[in-house]
Amino acid sequence: MTYEFERKQRIAILGGGPGGYEAALAGAQLGADVTLVERAGIGGSAVLTDVVPSKSLIATAVAANAINDATDLGVQFFLRGHESGAPVRPEIAVNLTAVNNRLLRLADQQSEDMKAELKSAGVRLIQGEGRLDGTSGIIVSTAPGTKGTDFDRVEADTLVVSVGATPRILDSAVPDGERILTWTQLYSLRSTPEHLIVVGSGVTGAEFASAYRALGSEVTLISSRDQVLPGEDADAAVVIENVFTRHGMNVLSKSRADSVVRTETGVLATLSDGRTVEGSHCLMAVGSVPNTADIGLAEAGVQMTESGHIRVNRVARTSMPNVYAAGDCTTSLPLASVASMQGRAAMFHAMGDAVIPIDLRNVAANIFTQPEIATVGWSQKQIEAGEVDGQIHKLELSKNPRAKMMGITDGFVKLFASTGSGTVIGGVIVAPNASELIYPLALAVNRRMTVDQVARTFSVYPSLTGSLADAARAMHVVR
Ligand SMILES: Cc1cc2nc3c(=O)[nH]c(=O)nc-3n(C[C@H](O)[C@H](O)[C@H](O)COP(=O)(O)OP(=O)(O)OC[C@H]3O[C@@H](n4cnc5c(N)ncnc54)[C@H](O)[C@@H]3O)c2cc1C
Repeated sequence: MTYEFERKQRIAILGGGPGGYEAALAGAQLGADVTLVERAGIGGSAVLTDVVPSKSLIATAVAANAINDATDLGVQFFLRGHESGAPVRPEIAVNLTAVNNRLLRLADQQSEDMKAELKSAGVRLIQGEGRLDGTSGIIVSTAPGTKGTDFDRVEADTLVVSVGATPRILDSAVPDGERILTWTQLYSLRSTPEHLIVVGSGVTGAEFASAYRALGSEVTLISSRDQVLPGEDADAAVVIENVFTRHGMNVLSKSRADSVVRTETGVLATLSDGRTVEGSHCLMAVGSVPNTADIGLAEAGVQMTESGHIRVNRVARTSMPNVYAAGDCTTSLPLASVASMQGRAAMFHAMGDAVIPIDLRNVAANIFTQPEIATVGWSQKQIEAGEVDGQIHKLELSKNPRAKMMGITDGFVKLFASTGSGTVIGGVIVAPNASELIYPLALAVNRRMTVDQVARTFSVYPSLTGSLADAARAMHVVR
């Protein structure tokens, strides 16, 4: 008599950013034989060039602003040994070489930590450039910098594609890595740009414009729309634009940059209406393109959009039953948190574990400007367009006792609740550290809590989250 032992399911993952990393850990935890192929470093763009470095840079910008703002709260600065003994107003000077060294070190460390975590979970790591070989495996070129030699083939039952995206390059403004830069090239700057032109006022453009202004650069933000942060909550965008201009940023709205070229001393941006802007450096923040070209997706029968994004369902499955995709290369939201959730969902589904399909409506997101903008659930725009029936309540933070004590003048909380039932369906928080304040609202949206349930939950007095409870109380439905 022969016994057939069930062999382990073999999973091959292409790309080691948040999507691939989480898929690998979940797959290994569920008992699969997991191989991950990565060409650069574990952690992906999220760790090496995007989230970790940008948020570390922003931490320095927040510290610089805090010193400036401390004076308003009565903190005085003195020069040690200065004979007059009179307080001075500090001039902030940021050592960008030290800042960039710090954030690159942090990124490397985080990447190493994640690599160690994968290894201890038993995931096999292959460094190399990979492509799909139909739907049954991945071909890897392991010789650095080559695409045609030294091939390995990873045979697999299930594939996960999580290859991320790279900055969009415009032919009329090609980055040279010195003066015209993508965000991945910013960290080689040795000193703060005298005058940084930022092309693009989406999340990435707004975050870097905000940070570099706080670090002492003159900043011109070129926005093709009426307002910065197109697509985000309109009230939040107004607050941010006001703060930007009050802090001396030059915001050029409805201005499309036709070209950016180098001059002898810096850069020259030419706008579509013929105006020109001269600066020392230019950051191009005009979006990303998915890394899905020439990796065998079409040949494998995986459906993509015209923009090259992989079509996935709510458990991250593609049009091919044993191929999953996660992260920025998919039609989902381009956020590290979403990539991770997709990676996990893919594995739970492939391994037959319990899986709750991802609901993008529950995604909490944050824009790390100063103040920050955190959002969750349905938006005001969608409510006003009649996509969902909802009530809106907004409270200015300037009325919140804790905000007054902290000297916070800009920002608000806004709550959205279903008409009739009072179920919380979304909200916006514009405040310092809004990213840390949104979680209770995300829980309320996820757990379908009513405004009364939120209002009955104790908040600390005094606290910024007290405004969430106040807004919920104001939305009480009288029955
Ligand atoms: C400036 C900036 C700041 C951001 N800040 C935030 C934030 O604060 N919070 C947040 O949630 N999101 C943030 N994001 C978005 C976040 O970075 C992405 O959503 C996240 O990186 C997506 O993860 P991923 O796994 O899809 O791809 P990635 O992180 O891009 O990883 C993909 C990996 O695949 C590898 N790869 C690609 N092709 C191949 C191949 N053929 N063979 C082998 N390996 C390959 C790449 O080397 C890379 O390591 C930010 C983005 C930017 C640009």
